[in-house]
Amino acid sequence: MLLTGYREEIFLPTCNNTFQSVHCIAHLDQDISGALPYLNAVLGGDTYIKEPPSVTFKLYGKLISVHGDKIAVNALRDEAEARHILEWLKEQINDAWGKRETITPKYDGKTIPDFLTIYRMLPKTNCKKCGQPTCMMFCSQATNGALGAADCPDITEENKIKLADYLSQFRFD
Ligand code: SF4
Repeated sequence: MLLTGYREEIFLPTCNNTFQSVHCIAHLDQDISGALPYLNAVLGGDTYIKEPPSVTFKLYGKLISVHGDKIAVNALRDEAEARHILEWLKEQINDAWGKRETITPKYDGKTIPDFLTIYRMLPKTNCKKCGQPTCMMFCSQATNGALGAADCPDITEENKIKLADYLSQFRFD
């Protein structure tokens, strides 16, 4: 077994603690960097960053980032759900590591943000305040990093945070 334990921190988002969801960070007892390309291969990560290694998944409506020394999960219903997902991830990490001889490691993820994922978070009013003629055009610009969550003045605070979190998983070189 690679990962034997972790220390969890569960908290409300500091920017707006009226949200109904909680965030969670697990500080890992072991360095699992070596398992990340195998975990990425098994679970199909949305993004994979080589240095320092990390893999990010969108699963069950949560954004899950797994690093060598920690795991971050957002948009959780409550502490019970946080613990359930962390235990599931621990199993997946150990399973992928245990089967690494039979898994082809994967060192990349989906390379650009998903258009519809961005669109769903926008107000969809085509108000043009971002300088784009439509919300669709905003999405096109956001998928290549030219615009971000802060560029839409009418987006809800909740979606602004979600969109910024989502886009932060990609590198626009
Ligand atoms: S400012 Fe926001 S709502 Fe208005 S067009 Fe741009 S993306 Fe759409």
